[in-house]
Amino acid sequence: MNSEKLNLLWLHGLTCCGNTQSFLCAEEPLLSSFLRKVNLIYHPAISEEEELEVKVRAILNGDIKLDVLVLEGAVPKGESDKTYKLDGMSLSELVLKLSSLADYTVALGNCAVYGNIPALKEKNVSGLQYRFKEKGGILGKDFRSKSGMPVINISGCPAHPEWFIGVILSIASGKRILLDSYGRPKEFYAYYTHDGCMRNQYYEWKVEAESMGTKEGCLFYNFGCRGPMTKSSCNRILWNGVSSKTRSGQPCFGCTEFDFPRANLWETKYNMGIPAELPEGVSLRGYIMVSGIAKTFAPDRLKRRLIDEGE
Ligand code: SF4
Repeated sequence: MNSEKLNLLWLHGLTCCGNTQSFLCAEEPLLSSFLRKVNLIYHPAISEEEELEVKVRAILNGDIKLDVLVLEGAVPKGESDKTYKLDGMSLSELVLKLSSLADYTVALGNCAVYGNIPALKEKNVSGLQYRFKEKGGILGKDFRSKSGMPVINISGCPAHPEWFIGVILSIASGKRILLDSYGRPKEFYAYYTHDGCMRNQYYEWKVEAESMGTKEGCLFYNFGCRGPMTKSSCNRILWNGVSSKTRSGQPCFGCTEFDFPRANLWETKYNMGIPAELPEGVSLRGYIMVSGIAKTFAPDRLKRRLIDEGE
């Protein structure tokens, strides 16, 4: 074992493994940087199944130092935990034990952070330190890992590989990681998905998209885009280096927030002609005043289709 590398153990809870898929799509040179700094001592999709038992015993015996514990997926507790038994420990017991030994504990993806889809129908299922917006989760609201940090929450369905790898490289280099009120690294969650969206002009002048998939128009007014209410770097750090939902003509559906998933993802609800949910920080009065003027004076060039005109 290379002692200069971080020992990282990755566990799966109740998960579709989407964050593993996202991680495996990490681009170069990011992935190489990660592998240079990390000793991936166990990953459910990469390692042999029996390796988990071996590595966990070695950690519990003190033969392997656990630097980073990563959990992907929600965790059931109590009698609802029918996931697996490892040396007599259920998943929740294993998570409790390992998180008490790890220098850093990372929740990767919305299920590990908030409980998300697996927690919708099962009240005993939650994320590591949250259940939706309620602080607590499996580890409790006061949990601190050995480094003194609470769970580092990297939300998203899935989370972008660069957000995850960026956090791990920050840990490896000893860089201070600032967290927001949901335990998410500010470096990646201080901004809204709306920030950096190429449709901002259309938003400001209230020019609506005619349909999903087109290049022109804002998706907030007709298609339920949650970019102005969702914290993520999706339009600042592009997916596969080239795109994002709103760049490809699909609305942001708020997958980094505690209330994801919600019903009617692609629909903007209106009350008397005003969107039922306004962008964060925008008052009803301000919206009514500005949007009426914007729509009236929107430049003609924004009302035309530019690329797919005539289709
Ligand atoms: S499409 Fe969504 S993210 Fe883009 S400008 Fe409109 S509201 Fe903002």
